[in-house]
Amino acid sequence: MHERRGFLKGLFGLGTAAWSLPLVGGGLATGTAAAQTPPPPPGKKLGYALVGLGSLSEHQIAPALASKTKHCKLAGLVSGNPDKAKAWAQKYGLPERSIYSYDNFDRIKDNPDIDIVYVVLPNSMHAEFTIRAAKAGKHVLCEKPMAVSVKECDQMIAACKAAKVQLAIGYRLHFEPNNLEMVRLAREKTFGRVKVIEAAAGFPIGDPRQWRLDKKLSGGGSLLDIGIYALQAARYIAGEEPINVSARWSRTDPVKFKPGVEESVLFTLEFPSGILANCASSYGCNLNRFRASAEHGWFEVQPALNYEGIKGRSRSQQGPKDWDLPVVDHFAAEMDDFAECVASGKPTRVPGEEGRRDQRIMAAIYQSAASGKTIAL
Ligand code: NAD
Repeated sequence: MHERRGFLKGLFGLGTAAWSLPLVGGGLATGTAAAQTPPPPPGKKLGYALVGLGSLSEHQIAPALASKTKHCKLAGLVSGNPDKAKAWAQKYGLPERSIYSYDNFDRIKDNPDIDIVYVVLPNSMHAEFTIRAAKAGKHVLCEKPMAVSVKECDQMIAACKAAKVQLAIGYRLHFEPNNLEMVRLAREKTFGRVKVIEAAAGFPIGDPRQWRLDKKLSGGGSLLDIGIYALQAARYIAGEEPINVSARWSRTDPVKFKPGVEESVLFTLEFPSGILANCASSYGCNLNRFRASAEHGWFEVQPALNYEGIKGRSRSQQGPKDWDLPVVDHFAAEMDDFAECVASGKPTRVPGEEGRRDQRIMAAIYQSAASGKTIAL
């Protein structure tokens, strides 16, 4: 995980509201369910419980909740390691009654300090803990990828609907100003109509024993973990849903990459307007760029998905332009935005339905790579 942290290191600190833009399909996606819980009193910060105290929770999410969020705070810890959880509780000033294990997690239903559960576990555990959190009456923010199958996504969405809680997916780039500028330039046709999108996301994976390389826990290889950012970018820049996909994959290291865990995938998406997106995902090398080429120029973010230091630029007959946009802590922005949605009943811009769309397309990408055929969506 060291390599991943190094690759993604870098992040931000600003509110979210100013950066709300329709990302896909020309309109904000609808939320899973309007929150039924009464809004908290003005000024009250909503409480998040973190499920899984691994690298992302430790280095990004908990620090953001401790010092950057305006509408939410850390209120609970769920871990399989009681000593680690106790040390965290001391560090963040939480009472021991706010600590849960994976076994007694369901008792959070009796904890009024916890409004939202943030699932930060290996991918194949997302569905179980999202459903259990919903049954405990808590709203859920679940890390990407939403799950490891479309069927699981359906079960998660249904559980949250039944419990009348909101479900959001941790798509942090929906809150990142440079990525949002890509969307704005595409929607407003500033450089004419977008014709071709290139989106690439990857990093060299390290330890062969980690869960990301174990299909039972990861659900797949680089695509589900990092290539999902390239898929997301293609969809939010195009502002449409792809109509077909074709893909190829490779594994060059049989020790790290067992069947079902691909190293690299290249995939092409065709959109209804004729936009083509050429996308790459890899666990073998660094890939980190989203570019849109339009009739009269191009615009891109590179690096595109780091926690810190994302940079955007455009080139056209008017000359080159390097963007100078606010720096935002993606996780603080994402968690504050969801807290506001929960408090007000407003639907999240990154609902479970959005995670499901990606899961469906990723399943088609795998199908195409395995069969050598173009798959209609
Ligand atoms: P990690 O390996 O650092 O942490 C995983 C946590 O799950 C650990 O606390 C571990 O103890 C716990 N766990 C429980 N059961 C486990 C099991 N059977 N095997 C392994 N670990 C188990 O992983 P991470 O990097 O924190 O990733 C967690 C989730 O967050 C993943 O879904 C990942 O895709 C996502 N993530 C998102 C981003 C982002 O930028 N949004 C970045 C990194 C990770």
